[in-house]
Amino acid sequence: MRSRFAVFVLALTVTPLLAHQLPVQPPGQPPPQPPAQVPTQPTCGGRSSNPRTACQPDVDRMMAALPEKAPAKPQKPRKVLVLARAAGYVHSSIPLAAKTIEALGTKTGAWTATTTYDAADINTENLRQYDLVFLDNTTGCFLDDPNDAQATASRRAALLAFIRGGKGIAGIHAASDSYHGNQCASPMASAGDPLWPEFNKMIGGYFKFHWNNPQLVTVKIDDPKSPLTAMFHGAEFDIHDETYVFANNSFSRDNVRVLTSVNYDKMSDADKAKERDPRPDHDYALSWIRREGNGRLFYEAHGHDESIYANRAMLEHLLAGIQYALGDLKADDTPYSSAMNGYL
Ligand SMILES: [Zn+2]
Repeated sequence: MRSRFAVFVLALTVTPLLAHQLPVQPPGQPPPQPPAQVPTQPTCGGRSSNPRTACQPDVDRMMAALPEKAPAKPQKPRKVLVLARAAGYVHSSIPLAAKTIEALGTKTGAWTATTTYDAADINTENLRQYDLVFLDNTTGCFLDDPNDAQATASRRAALLAFIRGGKGIAGIHAASDSYHGNQCASPMASAGDPLWPEFNKMIGGYFKFHWNNPQLVTVKIDDPKSPLTAMFHGAEFDIHDETYVFANNSFSRDNVRVLTSVNYDKMSDADKAKERDPRPDHDYALSWIRREGNGRLFYEAHGHDESIYANRAMLEHLLAGIQYALGDLKADDTPYSSAMNGYL
């Protein structure tokens, strides 16, 4: 009896559930479809729901590509501040670039690095402890506080005083997509006029166009005798990335010493045609150094795609460039004019 009663109760309980789960198909109606898959946001990388977390496979590839040794011995323990704040477009590679700078220093003993996403950390007092600021794909007016003109002015002054007083700045990729056009009002603008001419000159140029990732370019070595290009052994190499072009009036070899540039002759006519109003000098520099007051700047234009951070030679180039900007690796940084280099 008991078991028969149990079956009866069970049938009463289950029947409405089954009726709910399996609705009777009305005649002539299409069968019910499963709910559409909602695309899920990635959980790692600068454009993800955890924008300060690099994706582990990218970190693993970067760690495997790290050089063993720095080209110069640090004159003293060096401290680097990585500024990873983007006020415009946010690159997915931002947390990976920050991790790369930290790991490059730790593995080779060339420096220790701290990463911040807070522009307010660029102040005179805080910067005193650092030897170099690394601009990690900072876009737009990355130091500015739109609601506090005084804070904006003092951060800008602190960054310029930092390098001019004898310290270093290094920047990658979108560090040059900063302070131009109407970015401060509209972060997605491009080209246009300089918005902070002292910064634009200090970094060496500002963005006007890019060939889309993964554009193939042949990189030529403009300064093969420099210790900053030793890892390339004077030989051109191919690379895929998003390749920047700098506004005609913002970049000049009179202002910087170019280390590497695009071999424009090897670019296809179809690719050349993608650039509107091409640079008349066909001078598409990719990395350079320059002095600013008593300090030094190193800039590398590639670094959009995560694969750049798994490229051993590029990591060695970054390492040497940062050591130059720190003052530990000596290199001839005299600008050489367009005429001297055969770019007329
Ligand atoms: Zn980019």
